[in-house]
Amino acid sequence: MNSTDTAQAEGKSTSAERPGRSTAAPLEFRHVNKVYPGATEPAIEDLSLEVGAGEICVLVGPSGCGKTTAMRLVNRMIDLTSGDILLDGESIMTGDPVRLRREIGYVIQQIGLFPHRTIAQNVATVPKLLGWNRDRIRARTTELLELVGLAEMADRYPGQLSGGQRQRIGVARGLAADPPLMLMDEPFGAIDPITRERLQNQFLRLQADLRKTIVFVTHDIDEAIKMGDRIAVLRKGGRLAQYATPAELLMNPADDFVEDFVGADRALKRLALLRVRDFDLWSTPTVRPGDPTAAAREQAERSDLHHALLLDDHGRPQGWLSERDLRADAVPEIPDTVAVVIDRDSTLRDALAQLLEDGAQYGPVVDSEGRVLGALSVELISRFLASGDTTAEAPTDRAEAAAP
Ligand code: ADP
Repeated sequence: MNSTDTAQAEGKSTSAERPGRSTAAPLEFRHVNKVYPGATEPAIEDLSLEVGAGEICVLVGPSGCGKTTAMRLVNRMIDLTSGDILLDGESIMTGDPVRLRREIGYVIQQIGLFPHRTIAQNVATVPKLLGWNRDRIRARTTELLELVGLAEMADRYPGQLSGGQRQRIGVARGLAADPPLMLMDEPFGAIDPITRERLQNQFLRLQADLRKTIVFVTHDIDEAIKMGDRIAVLRKGGRLAQYATPAELLMNPADDFVEDFVGADRALKRLALLRVRDFDLWSTPTVRPGDPTAAAREQAERSDLHHALLLDDHGRPQGWLSERDLRADAVPEIPDTVAVVIDRDSTLRDALAQLLEDGAQYGPVVDSEGRVLGALSVELISRFLASGDTTAEAPTDRAEAAAP
């Protein structure tokens, strides 16, 4: 995870050469300076960094440190004072800025959808500006709406969608012309925490396939750790304090500023480096209403968790059978305790927060179709924390190996 292995996406590629294929290009800031007219201090000072093709680079730092400025310099919404920015090895200063902006996907917090245009028309904005023909636009729009799971919304208007759905449309629109680079400015900033977590996970799933080069701005270090292949921590005046992978940042903050910014709970933050799916889960037997309880009890005793999970007719987890449930002859329709259902793509940190919020010791883990994969428990997570590990490899084995 957070792999920097981008070989597949490396090198020059344009949609014209490879129609239908996803494109990605490397980006480089070279000694970039920006001083706003009339300002005495630079907003960006001597910023140099490289983003590999297909990587997510997160710009993070306190308010006013220059994150948005750095991002907007890339598509020339703001002009450089000196230095250069290279996209796919070419200076952004050589071409026409309007064309450049159309070539680069742009997703913002307020989404900026046109209220009087349908969702499909909104997604089609840039392809239309680029002069694509109607069939190509329709095919691309359909493909993208399916990609973000909102195909049925094509003819609705933005006002008829939830905030989370609008944000997914914003992402689809940003991807419309298959840009080699996407700029995302606090894209999930205005969304409630639970929806935000879901959108982040969905976006990372999408990115695992698309492998776009992405510059992502956030003020939230937790979001940076979760989303970034690499994180650029900026300090006031737009100076780069550290550019590193999330694990490096957590283990070796470059100085006191970065250490403070990352926070005192660095150990806990390591939980954000791991996905639930990378974890060795506990086995948990599943039962259906009407099953004999004797069998359920026997299965539960043989499992890691010693509890049986009740599924509904659609295979969705309902809750755990209690001693009282098991005293009846048959498994009831409604169990005594409700299950806290955890998405396999959640980070361990989000999963732990979910368990703690609901006062649960464990919860069933499900895949994107809602199928049960096993159970995650607070005990498994604390064993991992005690192991002092930051990698996703067999945390439980390692925890056991480390145990006396
Ligand atoms: P961040 O996105 O990290 O909050 P910004 O890039 O918005 O930071 O701002 C960096 C610095 O540049 C701040 O000191 C801000 O006041 C200043 N700044 C931003 N936009 C302008 C502008 N249009 N004109 C003058 N100063 C600006």
